[in-house]
Amino acid sequence: LEEKFDAIVVGAGMAGNAAAFTMASCGLKVLQLERGEYPGSKNVQGAIMYAHMLEEIIPDFRDDAPLERHLVEQRFWMMDKTSHAGIHYRSDDFNEAKPNRYTIIRAQFDKWFSRKVREAGATVLCETTATELAYDNAGKVVGVRTDRAGERILADVVVLAEGVNGLLGTRSGLREMPKPETVALAVKEMHFLPEELIEQRFGLKGNEGCVIEAAGTISRSMTGLAFLYTNKESISLGIGCLVSDFAATMESPYVLLDAFKNHPSVRALIAGSEVKEYAAHLIPEGGYKAIPQLFGDGWVAVGDAAQLNNAVHREGSNHAMTSGRIAGEAIVHIKSRNLATTKKNLALYKTMLESSFVLKDLRKHKDMPALLHTNSHNFFMTYPQLISLAAQNLVRVDGTPKLEKEKATTAAYIAARSRWGLVSDALRLAFAWR
Ligand code: FAD
Repeated sequence: LEEKFDAIVVGAGMAGNAAAFTMASCGLKVLQLERGEYPGSKNVQGAIMYAHMLEEIIPDFRDDAPLERHLVEQRFWMMDKTSHAGIHYRSDDFNEAKPNRYTIIRAQFDKWFSRKVREAGATVLCETTATELAYDNAGKVVGVRTDRAGERILADVVVLAEGVNGLLGTRSGLREMPKPETVALAVKEMHFLPEELIEQRFGLKGNEGCVIEAAGTISRSMTGLAFLYTNKESISLGIGCLVSDFAATMESPYVLLDAFKNHPSVRALIAGSEVKEYAAHLIPEGGYKAIPQLFGDGWVAVGDAAQLNNAVHREGSNHAMTSGRIAGEAIVHIKSRNLATTKKNLALYKTMLESSFVLKDLRKHKDMPALLHTNSHNFFMTYPQLISLAAQNLVRVDGTPKLEKEKATTAAYIAARSRWGLVSDALRLAFAWR
């Protein structure tokens, strides 16, 4: 006999766990499938985790979740070959009773989240890949087939939480393969160091943490970003650029990562560390315009599988958790009224998502991905060099009168971009940002 569930969730990442937990806690019969050996074994993140979004799902998560450090300092760096110019924000306000952001290690965190999903009553099957969707005669999704021998598994609704590759969704024709200009390829290493040394180097105490996000010549004219996040006894460090840029330039992500690690501003922070882990993963970067169809007859898509990632603010896990939770709540609402899980009724998920920060934020920055992609040389090469030159001109004291220094800086900007170019870049940035 074919077993029937209220919902099948494909994937046990942030989005899938949020959806499965929400539905199982409300009494729905939920099956979650995860292709990895355990939840988190396949997942890669920086990783900053945003507490507010998890609190909305598991309010007391701080009691037992594996958290690394709570963030008290954020540094944004604009880098050229030998320098960085930066904005730092550090506040003791972040040493609050319930901190706002934490670094996490996904392999540990996803295992913990999955335990909560099981405790809420869901059945979680690992080492099981959903290979295809099952349809009824009318074309409605009614379940999945897996790589395990046996019949199809039936459910009223399938939640696609399979991450950025989303092979099940693309193979089934529910969405297109993400385009190379809408996904970044990121590589990441974990550098282990004694806890005290990390605290010394970053000026931290106790569980305080610091993150650095860096753009500039390190991405060699490509649209990309590097990061360095402090964990308790390790530093996560990585860099990612658009796949289309890697293809066009034939640059290698490993070479970029090596250059970032050996940059004078970074080298001293990781000196003496032992590299124990290495990972590569895609990140959806296309923003609002790259979001595929989010729901249909018998299915919804959440998290990275729906490209719900805010690359401008480097937020993905919060969008994944919130879209998973909202999809779960919409399904609970539909089931509790004995309504069918048709496309018309599942549209509730999109309506709810529209009124959340997820689609509001992505819509706000809808023009940013294209602007950065089509002007990557200016934004990631020319301006970082000009900013460095201006900063050096300002702080170097060599007897040159200040007026002459300012004139030299202005002349360098005009030579690089022209007056009209500078105005046009500023306007385009302001319009895309607003
Ligand atoms: P995933 O976490 O990718 O989970 C998908 C799951 O589905 C996986 O467990 C996978 O094994 C499983 N799966 C896939 N196909 C199948 C199938 N057919 N059958 C069964 N299981 C399947 N976001 C932040 O908020 N903060 C950060 O600091 C941050 N840093 C990042 C750094 C890097 C290098 C990268 C790559 C991403 C980063 N992100 C960050 C983005 C964030 O990781 C993602 O947005 C988030 O993980 C998306 O969650 P998800 O559940 O949608 O997908």
